[in-house]
Amino acid sequence: MTDTTERNAERARVRVSGLEKSFGDNKVLRGIDFEAREGTSTVLLGPSGSGKTTVLRSLNVLETPDRGVIGIDDVEVDFAALPPGKAGRRASGLLRAQSGMVFQAHNLFPHRTVLENVIEGPVVAQKRPREEAVADARTLLDQVRLGDRGDAYPFQLSGGQQQRVGIARALALKPRVVLFDEPTSALDPELVGEVLAVIKDLAADGWTTVIVTHEIRFAEQVADQVLFLDGGVIVEKGPSARVIGDPREERTRRFLKRVL
Ligand code: ADP
Repeated sequence: MTDTTERNAERARVRVSGLEKSFGDNKVLRGIDFEAREGTSTVLLGPSGSGKTTVLRSLNVLETPDRGVIGIDDVEVDFAALPPGKAGRRASGLLRAQSGMVFQAHNLFPHRTVLENVIEGPVVAQKRPREEAVADARTLLDQVRLGDRGDAYPFQLSGGQQQRVGIARALALKPRVVLFDEPTSALDPELVGEVLAVIKDLAADGWTTVIVTHEIRFAEQVADQVLFLDGGVIVEKGPSARVIGDPREERTRRFLKRVL
């Protein structure tokens, strides 16, 4: 093994420590610490307003934390020491490129086919050869169970299918971790299952995922670890069966009782 692979073998894919974030007077994250190992799924659970989405958006640097360190694979940023101006933006950009975000609803380009939507990022942002991006996109569309819909336009697809194109689009950039922000909350109930099934496949295929969801049963099945947040701190974390099946903290118990 080279030094780098040795280092990577012992180091978690995602490393978060001491993450703090305020919006004005509202301290939303009060010191978040967790790690996610390569090929695992981490699910963030907790009441509305507990800070789950802010953690996820911080990983993708859509929000800039006030303090704390985020490391994803080989890129690590200490936000308390983020230099001002261009150097800081460059560091944030490098960290952002390590993850791919799947939002609640995807704004696909309406006048482009499914395939063109998926290759946009690799070809335009990453300057990869078009043929290579097309070949990869076809594999990804198979993976999200849309192998036969590459030539369709977004308006011809159901909400669940559009969301699966959104997932393929995030994967096309080959991120080191895929972040899902309530990926099924904008869908009609009958379309939720197909999207969750695709996310479950990704986890089984070895993608590293961090997921904010209210789907507790899904979390129980898919998550390797569950982080339960309340009031901007992680109240409890551990294997999903333990945290969901046998929570130790009163706040976790109360939350689960309410939602299950
Ligand atoms: P959750 O995902 O657990 O529902 P969020 O991370 O979305 O929680 O929000 C946590 C808190 O931060 C909430 O009080 C919310 O109103 C506030 N918040 C989130 N984003 C912003 C923002 N861009 N500006 C101001 N307040 C925000």
